[in-house]
Amino acid sequence: MAGLWTIGEIRKPEVMKNSGSSSRYSNDHLNYDILVRIFMALNTAELLVASTVCKSWMQASRNHLLWNKLDLTALNSSIFNVQKIRNTWNDIFSQRKLNLLLKLGVRLGNGNIRCLIFNYYTYFSDFQLITAAERTPNLQRLVFPDSGHLSKDGIYNAMRSWRGLVSITITSIVNRPHMFSAIGKYCKNLSELKLTFDFEQHHADALVEHIPNLMVLSIRYVSVDMKALCHVLKSMERLVLVNICHSTIYDLSDYSIELYDIKSLRKHLSISCLEKLISCQVNECCRCQRHNYDPRRHLEDIWHNDEVRCFAID
Ligand SMILES: [Zn+2]
Repeated sequence: MAGLWTIGEIRKPEVMKNSGSSSRYSNDHLNYDILVRIFMALNTAELLVASTVCKSWMQASRNHLLWNKLDLTALNSSIFNVQKIRNTWNDIFSQRKLNLLLKLGVRLGNGNIRCLIFNYYTYFSDFQLITAAERTPNLQRLVFPDSGHLSKDGIYNAMRSWRGLVSITITSIVNRPHMFSAIGKYCKNLSELKLTFDFEQHHADALVEHIPNLMVLSIRYVSVDMKALCHVLKSMERLVLVNICHSTIYDLSDYSIELYDIKSLRKHLSISCLEKLISCQVNECCRCQRHNYDPRRHLEDIWHNDEVRCFAID
């Protein structure tokens, strides 16, 4: 928040008496450009607060350069201090505050938002989903939060507004068949999909049926049904990359469970399919390289990082 108070020290130059309208315009124009430059260094939470300071700050904070991404993970910062506990901000007062912040963000974004990342911890509802969807018609990348309740109608209405979606991270909050069918119905250009829950046969069937243009899939740090993995690799012709870093690959039969590594998958997959898999070799994945890894926050870590660049949240 220190950055915001630094900005507060900037004062609008007083227009000298008898100065003409052109000099007034120059000063205002100069201030506007400087403010936009400064605002580019703020995170979303800081920018939302800055926009409420005065009229000139509000005008500058609406600049399209500031709103390629609306990243609500910034609500964890000291300004709003969202606790890192799932289902937090689930009370009426907090939900109203979240609604106001989201409304303000999408209004300032003015249709320019291409990437929308919800806060991992805050409780999420249909109202927030629809509010976001109606005001971000040009969205290309969406990252769902991990807690809340969304109805089938809410998901369908949102996906109808997000027809240009290219990339999506789906969490357990929307781990339901209608999520995939809604994508299949409205988001024909979707090519990048990250799932943060166990990958089972019915998920593979849904991908093959509803997202045939999928090119990149991330199912890291979860349990993965071996037959489901083989199904998508063999059936989805456009698939070029599947991230299975630290996932447990298993095959469950009536009498036993068999675990697989990359080598043992050779019995079931061709070389061309195996080459599409990304796995952690010699402790080289994001998590293995993090020395300050906190296992208590491992689910957020799965959601937040990824070896595939297009899924990583900066
Ligand atoms: Zn690793």
